[in-house]
Amino acid sequence: MSDLYHKVSNSPVGRSVVSALNLPAPVVLERQNRTDAPFLEGEVLLSGAPGGAALETICTVLGASTASLFALDAKPLVAASDIKTKTKVSALKADAIDPKQRFKALVFDATGITTTEQLKTVYEFFHPVIRNVAKCGRIVIVGTEPSACATPAMAASQKALEGFIRSVAKETGKKGITAQVIYATPGAENQIESPLRFCLSPRSAYVSGQTLSVSKATKSKAAFDWSSPLKGKVALVTGASRGIGEAIAKTLARDGATVVCLDVPQANEALESVAASIGGSALALDITAPEAPEVISSHFQKEHGGLDIIVHNAGVTRDKTLGRMPEHFWDMLIDINLSSEERINDALFANEVFNKNARIVCVSSISGIAGNVGQSNYAASKSGVIGYVESLSKQLKGGVTINAVAPGFIETQMTAAIPFMIREAGRRMNSLNQGGQPEDVAEAIAFFSSPASQGVNGNILRVCGQSLIGK
Ligand code: NAD
Repeated sequence: MSDLYHKVSNSPVGRSVVSALNLPAPVVLERQNRTDAPFLEGEVLLSGAPGGAALETICTVLGASTASLFALDAKPLVAASDIKTKTKVSALKADAIDPKQRFKALVFDATGITTTEQLKTVYEFFHPVIRNVAKCGRIVIVGTEPSACATPAMAASQKALEGFIRSVAKETGKKGITAQVIYATPGAENQIESPLRFCLSPRSAYVSGQTLSVSKATKSKAAFDWSSPLKGKVALVTGASRGIGEAIAKTLARDGATVVCLDVPQANEALESVAASIGGSALALDITAPEAPEVISSHFQKEHGGLDIIVHNAGVTRDKTLGRMPEHFWDMLIDINLSSEERINDALFANEVFNKNARIVCVSSISGIAGNVGQSNYAASKSGVIGYVESLSKQLKGGVTINAVAPGFIETQMTAAIPFMIREAGRRMNSLNQGGQPEDVAEAIAFFSSPASQGVNGNILRVCGQSLIGK
């Protein structure tokens, strides 16, 4: 869908009008669809609080990019000479930084912070250089999962990072800069590679002010092909004939998966066309049909010998304020957006269709986090998805994970149907001053679906440009 204001405000004349009237000026976000492109390019400034556990892993991960690494030389931060890594890290003093110098990313290891006084290291690192971050740059802090901290003081200092990063994201978002915290449980620092690559790359263009949690998991010793992370995997995407579902199917196929695209029989023509465009196959089926769970189970057993990735994307809205909402609006919406997902997963587990290390990804919404006028049914279904993911994530075995994305305002046919003024407000009320693209949601889902995201389980990731709605 088209955002005319975004286009006009990025034209030469529009830019001066927008500036003169002091209107929001959304930048053109950097996105990257090529699989052979480095995940990060340019100059990266890093450091950490003394005693941290993640800096070596951070340097090793960054060493796989084409970025040049610099460690900020300021007491009491960790110095370049203290970092034990094969990756070249040069020392850089704060007073040697040219005001015009631009860093593509700032990365800080905060896992060494155990007291609230030590939070000062965060200030020492970011304060002198925050204005030197490039347009569409990236800011990432790696911390320790607050609920896994040994003392209340440590939990306080680690949780403080969340408020810090959310504020920094709001201060820098107008330049297309994003900022996140990756929280690792103690001992899981070796699991940060996949979230770190995602957060630093253009693939997280519309994700900002978020936290991601990683926990311990068995790390494969085999070399991993980051350019084709889903090679050999079989995926099912529901609601794949258009919008976000179409983008998910295309993105998973780009990453090497064989994709089965599912949608209602009425959408079969568009569905066949999406499937054909990615060398996948189409499965025309209403997910609420009583036979759907068994049809899906036997399809994957017979045709593919199992299933590696399921993306529960199909969803509808049926908006009416509660007093005016007809019963069938409630019933059909809860059945499509919530109950059918459970029934399908139950059958796939019961019939042992899921392969080892399978990935389940659900699609929630910021409406499910904040609620919305006229959407009591929709918001209930989408917060239900969050409850389901958080609970099921604790029960899964065999390396299976479940996570959810919670999109904000995404430019699709669903949002094009919203009345103009409400649509404009939805688009602009976020730190990046624009709506997201279906591909932004798809990239987050591809990240969750990766075998490299083994330690990423039970997360709800907002893809909303840090919408002002909700937390
Ligand atoms: P869309 O209406 O463009 O696509 C939804 C697809 O789901 C359609 O192709 C539809 O035919 C299919 N579908 C509906 N009922 C089905 C059923 N019973 N069986 C099989 N398929 C069915 O919507 P979208 O904007 O692409 O949204 C995709 C998902 O993202 C939905 O779950 C939606 O709630 C969620 N979401 C969207 C936004 C947004 O801004 N667009 C924001 C938050 C969440």
